[in-house]
Amino acid sequence: PHDTVDVVVVGSGGAGFSAAVSAHDNGAKVILIEKEPVIGGNAKLAAGGMNAAWTDQQKAKDITDSPELMYKDTMKGGRNINDPGLVEILSSHSKGSVDWMTAMGADLNDVGRMGGASVNRSHRPTGGAGVGAHVVQVLYDNALKRNIDLRMNTRGIEILKDDSGKVKGILVKGMYKGYYWVKADAVILATGGFAKNNDRVAKLDPKLKGFISTNQPGAVGDGIDVAENAGAATKDVEYIQAHPTLSVKGGVMVTEAVRGNGAILVNREGKRFVNEITTRDKASAAILKQTGKSAFLIFDDSVRKSLKKIDKYIGLGVAPTSDSLVKLGDMKGVGIDGKALTETVARYNSFVTSGKDADFERPNLPRALNEGNYYAIEVTPGVHHTMGGVMIDTKAEVMNAKKEVIPGLYGAGEVTGGVHGANRLGGNAISDIITFGRLAGEEAAKYSKKN
Ligand code: ADP
Repeated sequence: PHDTVDVVVVGSGGAGFSAAVSAHDNGAKVILIEKEPVIGGNAKLAAGGMNAAWTDQQKAKDITDSPELMYKDTMKGGRNINDPGLVEILSSHSKGSVDWMTAMGADLNDVGRMGGASVNRSHRPTGGAGVGAHVVQVLYDNALKRNIDLRMNTRGIEILKDDSGKVKGILVKGMYKGYYWVKADAVILATGGFAKNNDRVAKLDPKLKGFISTNQPGAVGDGIDVAENAGAATKDVEYIQAHPTLSVKGGVMVTEAVRGNGAILVNREGKRFVNEITTRDKASAAILKQTGKSAFLIFDDSVRKSLKKIDKYIGLGVAPTSDSLVKLGDMKGVGIDGKALTETVARYNSFVTSGKDADFERPNLPRALNEGNYYAIEVTPGVHHTMGGVMIDTKAEVMNAKKEVIPGLYGAGEVTGGVHGANRLGGNAISDIITFGRLAGEEAAKYSKKN
C-alpha cells in the first residue's frame, strides 16, 4: 500500500513543523512523519532564544542591530568555516522568521543576550520562558489548524528515486502499519542531529567518548544515513559541541559562569582535580577521569548571589544545599567525603586570600567560599549539538559530493551542516530551524508543482 502527497517532511522538531506548515501554505499536500511517540525533537528543549536582527521587538527596546552584524557574529563564532551563503540567509531572513512566528501566535517579545552576540538579539517569550517548547507548541497548533497529516511512531527509512535520479517518495515504517511507501515529488529531511549517539560522536571526535548528552532519544543521526544512502554529501560532521558541566540529575547544562564566578570542582573524594576555568575540552577530560565519571560544582551563597541563573538550577532541584560541608557531602544524591571537602574548601579559601592557586594555577579567584549555605551540583560532560550534517544549498536543496542538487530532496535544521561552521552560537539553532524549515517547505512546494 502507499499514500500519495506532494511533500513528505521527516521529523517533527522546529525545522520539520516549519517546513510542513510552510509547504502547506504554499499549496502542497503534506505528510509529516515522526519516528518517536512524541513531537518536538530537541527543539522543544531549547532554552536560550531565537536570534534575529533588526526586529520590531528589538526596536521597541531601542536595540540597534543589523543582519550584517548578525552575519559577522555568526561567522566569527563558527570560526569562519560556515557556508557564507547559508549564514547570509540565516541573518537576512531572521526578522521575517520572527514575524512569521509572531503572526502564528508566538510571543517573542523578551530580547536577551547570548554568547558571541554583539547586541541583545535572542528573542524569547515574555518572562524568559523556554523558547523551544513555545515555538514547537505554536507550530504544532498551526499544523493542527491546517489539518496536516501527522504520523507519529513512523520512521523514514529510504528515499525512493526514479531512473533519472529524481526523488519520488520515501519508504517508511509505522509502528502498527509496518513498511509502506509514501509517494511524493519532494522529501524534506528535518531529522535533527546525532548528539545522543555516542558511538557515532566518538568516531568523529574521540575526545567525546563516554559523554552523556542533553539530547532527546531520537537524536541518533539516522536521518543523515537516509540522506547519504540517497547520495547526499555531508559537511563539518566532525564539529561537535560539548560542554563540561551538564547536571547529571536534570540533564540541564550548567553555565560556565558558575565556575567563572567562583565555584570549584571536586570529586567524590572531596578533592579538587583541575583548574576549573580551563578550556572546555580539558575540563571535560579531567571530570571523566574521576570516580563515577562525574564531579561536583561546589559553591556558597556569595556565588549564588552573583549569578541569577543559579536560582534556576536550585529551582530545578539539582543543587542540594546545607549549611555545613560535611552534611552536604552526606546528602542524598551527593556522596562526597565531607571531611576532605572541608579541608579542600579551607585550602582553596587560603589561595583566594594569597591570590595564588598553588595546586592547579587557576587564574581567577573571585571570592572565598564561606558565606551562608553551600551547594553541590553533580556534573559530567555532555554533548549538546552537532554542527555538521547534510550539505544543502541556499534553497535548502540537498547536494551530492559534486555539489549537484539531488532533485526533490531538501534538508533543514540540525540534520544539515554549514550554517554554524565549527561552533554554533547560542540562539542560532531556533533561528536556523525556523528560517530553513520555512524555506525548505516553500521550495519543496514550488518544486512539486513543477513535477
Ligand atoms: P531540528 O532542531 O533540526 O528541528 P529536532 O531534533 O528538534 O531537529 O527534531 C528532529 C526530529 O526528527 C526528532 O523528533 C526525531 O525523533 C525525528 N527523526 C529523526 N530521525 C527520523 C527518521 N528517520 N524518521 C522520522 N523521524 C525522525
